[in-house]
Amino acid sequence: MGDLSVGRRTCRDRDDSGLDIVNHLRQFMLHCNIAGAMFHADIPTSRRRPPPQRRFEQTDTPMLKGKTAVVTGSTSGIGLGIARALAGEGANVVLNGFGDANEIEKIRASVEKECGVKAAYSPADMTKPAEIAAMIKTAEQTFGSVDILINNAGIQHVAPIEEFPIEKWDQIIAIDLSSAFHSVRAAVPGMKARKWGRIINTASAHSLVASPFKVAYVSAKHGLAGLTKTVALELATFGITCNCISPGYVWTPLVEKQIPEQMKSRHMTAEQVKRDVLLDAQPTKEFVTVEQVAALALYLCSDAASSVTGANLSIDGGWTAQ
Ligand code: NAD
Repeated sequence: MGDLSVGRRTCRDRDDSGLDIVNHLRQFMLHCNIAGAMFHADIPTSRRRPPPQRRFEQTDTPMLKGKTAVVTGSTSGIGLGIARALAGEGANVVLNGFGDANEIEKIRASVEKECGVKAAYSPADMTKPAEIAAMIKTAEQTFGSVDILINNAGIQHVAPIEEFPIEKWDQIIAIDLSSAFHSVRAAVPGMKARKWGRIINTASAHSLVASPFKVAYVSAKHGLAGLTKTVALELATFGITCNCISPGYVWTPLVEKQIPEQMKSRHMTAEQVKRDVLLDAQPTKEFVTVEQVAALALYLCSDAASSVTGANLSIDGGWTAQ
C-alpha cells in the first residue's frame, strides 16, 4: 500500500478521481522539494479499495523541460529567484533587467551551469514597447517558443502626492504596468498557436490595498491585477493561464532602497521604518522570502494549476487578511 506519512496523519494513494488531487499535489511537492508536513488527508478505512499502481515516484524528468521562460526584471530579487526556480525545473530562461554587465554575465552563466539549461540575457528596457516586443521575438527565435512569461520588473518611489515627481509617475506606470501589456501582447500569438502558456505577473499586496506616499505603485499594481483578470478571460480556452502573485514585503534591493525615502517622508529612523512601517503591516512580523514567491510561481506553471487562472494570489504574511 502506498502510504505517505505526513506529520501526524496519513495520506494514502487511491484510484478514484477524488484522490487524483492528492497524487497531483504530492508529485508537485516532490518536484519542488517542498513535500513535508504540508498536506493531510485521511481516508476512512471503509472507503479504501485495493491499491492501484503507485504513482508517487519522484520523476527524473524536470517539470518544465522543453519550455522557455522570459522573466522580466530578473537580474536581482524576486525575478532572479523565479528564473532560478524555473531553470531548476528544466526551462530555458531569458533573463532581463539592469545592472553591472559583468555581474549579469556571472548570473547568466551560473543559471546555465547549475541548472543544465540555456540562459540568455535581454537588456530590453521595460519603459520601451519596441524593446519589449523585440525581446519576446528574439526569445522565440533563439529557443523556439516563449511558453512562460513572468512580468516581474518593477520599481518604487515614495513621496507625498503633491511632491510626487511627474516623471516617476510615468516611469512606474510604464515599468510596473504597461510593460506587462506589451509583453503579453507579443507573447500570446505563439502561446495560442501551441495551446499552452503560463503568464504570471508579480503584483503586490498593493494590488489589493493602498499605503500612503505610493500613489504610482499602488495605481500600477491595482492596474496589473485588472490586466491579469482580463487576459485570463481572453485566454481561458487556449490552455493559457494568467495569474498574479501579490507578495507582502520581501527583503530585496527594491525594499532596501525605499528605506531612506520612507525615513524622509515619515521622519523616522531606518529601524523604525522596518518595524513600524514595513513589518507593521505583516501579522507574521517576518519578511516573505524570494524562495517562497518562486515556489508559488513554480506551482502556477505546473499542470496541477491548469485551472487556476485570473487569480490574485497573496503571499503576504496575512497583511491583506486584515
Ligand atoms: P529588485 O529591485 O530586486 O528587482 C527589480 C528588477 O527589475 C531588477 O532586475 C531591475 O534591474 C529590473 N528593472 C527595473 N527597471 C527596469 C526597466 N526599465 N527595464 C527592465 N528591467 C528593469 O526588486 P524586487 O523586490 O525583486 O521586485 C520585483 C517585483 O516584485 C517588482 O515588480 C515589485 O514591485 C514586486 N514586489 C516586490 C516586493 C518586495 O517587498 N520586494 C513586494 C511586492 C511586490
